[in-house]
Amino acid sequence: MKVLNYITCTNILLKKLGVVDSDICSFCNLSREEIEHMIFTCSVSQNFWNDFKWYWYCNTKETILLSLKDIIVGVLAGNGNDFLNYCILVGKSVIYHCKRNNRKPSLQSFKLLLCKKYHTELYIAQKNNILHIFHKKWKFKP
Ligand SMILES: [Zn+2]
Repeated sequence: MKVLNYITCTNILLKKLGVVDSDICSFCNLSREEIEHMIFTCSVSQNFWNDFKWYWYCNTKETILLSLKDIIVGVLAGNGNDFLNYCILVGKSVIYHCKRNNRKPSLQSFKLLLCKKYHTELYIAQKNNILHIFHKKWKFKP
């Protein structure tokens, strides 16, 4: 995943830079912290994405499968995946934020961040009189 190297600071890069002593994953302490591992294949991240899929199902009644590719570049197949891709971006942001703060990513952290974004965008949409665009984007209220 050359695309994300040097943008996302994994422990592999931080060790090369002399910032940390170990390149082992901050979540599981088992594997090297490759980007793919941190955001997807790590058991901790897998738990997060499983919770995310359940949350998505509860709010949309849509069953989704998420591959590494879907997490990295977004869900490409089908129409109307913009909001799902937005939520995946928020999920990746939660994983990275939790890694930096030595916490495990949780659905609760995700819901909190999504809720903040919802209220910020609602405020902006009301101010600019573009609520129709806001309601088109947000498939459900978090
Ligand atoms: Zn791990």
